[in-house]
Amino acid sequence: MKIIVLPGDGIGPETMAATVAVLQAASARFGLALELTHDVAGHESLRRHGATVTAELLEKVRRADGLMLGPMSTYEFKDEAKGEINPSKFFRKSLDLFANVRPARTYPGIPARLAGAGSFDLVVVRENTEGFYSDRNVESGGSEMLITPDVVISLRRITRLCCERIARTAFDLAMTRRRHVTIVHKANVLKIGDGMFIDICHAVARDYPEVVVDDFIVDAMMAHVVRDPGRFDVIVTTNMFGDILSDLTAELSGSLGLGGSLNSAADHAMGQAAHGSAPDIAGQDSANPFSLILSAGMLLGWFGQRHGKAQFLAARRALEGAVAEAIAAGEATRDVGGRLGTRAAGQALAQRLARG
Ligand code: NAD
Repeated sequence: MKIIVLPGDGIGPETMAATVAVLQAASARFGLALELTHDVAGHESLRRHGATVTAELLEKVRRADGLMLGPMSTYEFKDEAKGEINPSKFFRKSLDLFANVRPARTYPGIPARLAGAGSFDLVVVRENTEGFYSDRNVESGGSEMLITPDVVISLRRITRLCCERIARTAFDLAMTRRRHVTIVHKANVLKIGDGMFIDICHAVARDYPEVVVDDFIVDAMMAHVVRDPGRFDVIVTTNMFGDILSDLTAELSGSLGLGGSLNSAADHAMGQAAHGSAPDIAGQDSANPFSLILSAGMLLGWFGQRHGKAQFLAARRALEGAVAEAIAAGEATRDVGGRLGTRAAGQALAQRLARG
């Protein structure tokens, strides 16, 4: 399996170094023959190549089997004409990575974020290629317009195709889990766009009679998730709602630094932590690398499923098990109650995985 590795900005290089150590350990133990090719995106690419991402890099990624993308300081990338392109958007849009799957679960050993909160294990399935993202829902240009100096219009795109394929992703996933899908929307206000989203989700649900379906308006959903996250299994929603909701579920699980995620289509996939470049803790050897490591595990699992390679599926399971054991043993960063820095937590996890 050929993987392109792009460390990114802020805490990206630290967390990606830890992730690479763990991938190498997984490769050795499970005979994965991973071939990791290091390249650059974000600020480092802007310095070297005049753009945060380049067409050459995209070609390399197209030819590879997977991509690991570190967090990017996207807020600092203001002007595409100056090469300041949002790398997440670039790969999601160029490779049509429509499904952003973001699991969140509690772990024994991490103090609950909220008093009285029970354990949970859920997955947010977020549409990734349209919605309220002005940089990806039109072919060229952006869909935010300055009408007068005091008036801005931001457009949101919702299409039948994107609703249907994300709904199918969610229901397929639910069939491998507890067979429960929750549709999250704002169809009380966005009556046409979210009305279509919810109708399509219910239509797709008819192909999955074993799956229990319910739906919540997104604002009330925040309250329900905080109140009792354990009642949810698979949550399907549009792009921005999923982005916001998945930060909440990751933090409720113990830390945003546990928020792994995979962006995928049938033929390409990109592992990427749910969080950003965390400039407030960059360079301090304190960022939690488990979010990126869990994302790498998801990438291995995606490849194993796509090509019917059991050792990749076993590697993902072992990696997730090792993360849970490491947290319970305190071999984790301080945000989840551990005693290690980023680098040591990555090394300890790599050793744990190698030991089996
Ligand atoms: P952030 O997600 O980077 O950080 C939010 C909070 O969570 C901070 O307190 C941070 O220290 C903490 N945190 C994040 N990751 C952590 C980890 N692995 N371990 C421990 N703590 C962690 O959000 P922000 O500060 O609003 O954004 C910073 C930059 O990241 C911005 O430029 C933003 O545009 C960008 N961003 C990029 C992505 C991406 O690349 N996918 C996603 C979100 C934000």
